[in-house]
Amino acid sequence: MTHLDRFIKYVKINTQADDKTGTTPSTERQKDLGRVLVAELLELGLEDAHMDEWGNVYGHLPGKGTRIGLNAHMDTALEVTDEEVKPHLIKEYQGGIIQLANGLEMSPEMFPSLNNHIGHDLVVTDGNTLLGADDKAGIAIIMSALQYFHDHQEVEHSTICVCFTVDEEIGEGPLHFNYEKMNAKYAYTIDGAEIDVIESENFNAKAVHIHVTGVSIHPGEAKGKLINACLVGNDLISLLPQNDTPFDSEGKEGFWHLTEFNGSSDEADIRLIIRDFKESGVENRIECVRHAVDEVKKKYPTSKIEWSIKDQYENMKQYVDKKPIAVKNAREALKKNGIEPVSGYIRGGTDGATFSKYGLVTPNLGTGSYNHHGRFEYLDVQEFEKMIDVVIDIVKR
Ligand SMILES: [Zn+2]
Repeated sequence: MTHLDRFIKYVKINTQADDKTGTTPSTERQKDLGRVLVAELLELGLEDAHMDEWGNVYGHLPGKGTRIGLNAHMDTALEVTDEEVKPHLIKEYQGGIIQLANGLEMSPEMFPSLNNHIGHDLVVTDGNTLLGADDKAGIAIIMSALQYFHDHQEVEHSTICVCFTVDEEIGEGPLHFNYEKMNAKYAYTIDGAEIDVIESENFNAKAVHIHVTGVSIHPGEAKGKLINACLVGNDLISLLPQNDTPFDSEGKEGFWHLTEFNGSSDEADIRLIIRDFKESGVENRIECVRHAVDEVKKKYPTSKIEWSIKDQYENMKQYVDKKPIAVKNAREALKKNGIEPVSGYIRGGTDGATFSKYGLVTPNLGTGSYNHHGRFEYLDVQEFEKMIDVVIDIVKR
């Protein structure tokens, strides 16, 4: 089985997550891939390989020295189905438009990054599904690295601690993650795109829920009495900094974002998310919300406004910086493979951010796959294969 065969085998197993079921795993089908992976891990000599009741797959390949963790997630994104993925291989991409089987076109005008892959083999979809390279490319990279050590018993390596998680796409990868079972000193998620990028920074994230109760009275006799909850909410939102939304934000800038506003004249529910690379940036925006709530309470003393803040995830940088060996080791492995490492940051979160917070420092590495979460997802085969060598060097002694 070639590395590419392995990847194709995994993407053909439907593992889409679902944020409505409320179960773990969110979909039973994720366990279909889990069972395949457990069988393969056992064959590769990871004698303790197993899937737990939540669908997470663990296994260890004993070696010497530092215990290094490797993680990838088994589920695929919610935006587009992964049922009946029909991957198509383009040998030595010559540039220009790629015609997908269902008539859709992928052009370098739409996706300029295609120009970075001229001369390489690409795997694309038939246009009806996503590819699932996010994150089955990561899984295949880890499995192929393990295959290497199975085929080269003479090569010394660290103890390799493997975990394939469920439900990353709905932010629940760390929910039932067992740190003691994983038992690694530090780890990597292999879940990114560009292979030269090591991502060790992400947003700090909080969510705010505001509930407004108005005073509802028949509008015909409402003068001086009716307080419309939606209008109160509207006032509140208008008091937040208006040029601080995702529309205005890029790079290392944060934002507040109105994700939901539901209601009637009687009651309104407002949901915001707040993101910033700096903790203080999140706190400042929370202060803005507090101020807006206070002002609106003064203006509408007969309405009731309740609000709460929920922690979502933290920037992993503060934790990763305390254990620089993780990034250093990855940088050295990339360089050894002729790749100049680049420090990257994620305008979002990763499972690794939560792992890092709870003591398992986990930066993110690339997979050589791009345009995740959609029909135009593709894999650069040579980059993907390069990452197998990089991961081998990360754990090699
Ligand atoms: Zn992913």
